[in-house]
Amino acid sequence: MTLNMVTDNSKNKKFPCDSCHTDCCKEYVIFVNAHDIYRLSMRLKLNPMNFLEILGAKDYDLGINVEEGLIDLILKQKNDGCMFLEETKDTFRCTVNDFKPSICKSYPFQIKNEKLIQMSDIMCPVDWNIKEFESIMLPHLKKDYHEWKFYDNLILEWNTKNLTKKPLSAFLKFILNRVSLEFV
Ligand code: SF4
Ligand code: SF4
Repeated sequence: MTLNMVTDNSKNKKFPCDSCHTDCCKEYVIFVNAHDIYRLSMRLKLNPMNFLEILGAKDYDLGINVEEGLIDLILKQKNDGCMFLEETKDTFRCTVNDFKPSICKSYPFQIKNEKLIQMSDIMCPVDWNIKEFESIMLPHLKKDYHEWKFYDNLILEWNTKNLTKKPLSAFLKFILNRVSLEFV
């Protein structure tokens, strides 16, 4: 999911994802948060329901309580993979690479005891050079953590205020409005 990842200070780096069959983009369900939904809908100029799919929530504390049920939001799938994965001959590319969801940018890294590590028990076949990616991934993972915390708090606020359930469209309006306030 970090495929074709290019940031300002990494334009000349060769990424292992460039030559991978991107099983991560085919096998994982991609959960999205408020910032992810905001970035995708603004950049693609699309109503979020064009790229979101509803999943029954497993975590009853963090599920979104709407008319449609207690739900989570994930990216839509297409051809047994993420809808944004494009295959051309032998290569795969993420068509929303510049603004893909934060968990896609993070994978397969995590922070443990303030240090960057590669996740264990995952499908990524690459033994990543942690030192090489530290300066890119540490700031991203910290930002990612805050965005998920922000989203969890929004869900908590929504569920507490809206005991009489409202439609998912109202929840999306609520979160997109809150994220947009961060950018004014
Ligand atoms: S499986 Fe690993 S190397 Fe392949 S695209 Fe995903 S993160 Fe990159
Ligand atoms: S958004 Fe891009 S990186 Fe994330 S799963 Fe889809 S194709 Fe892969």
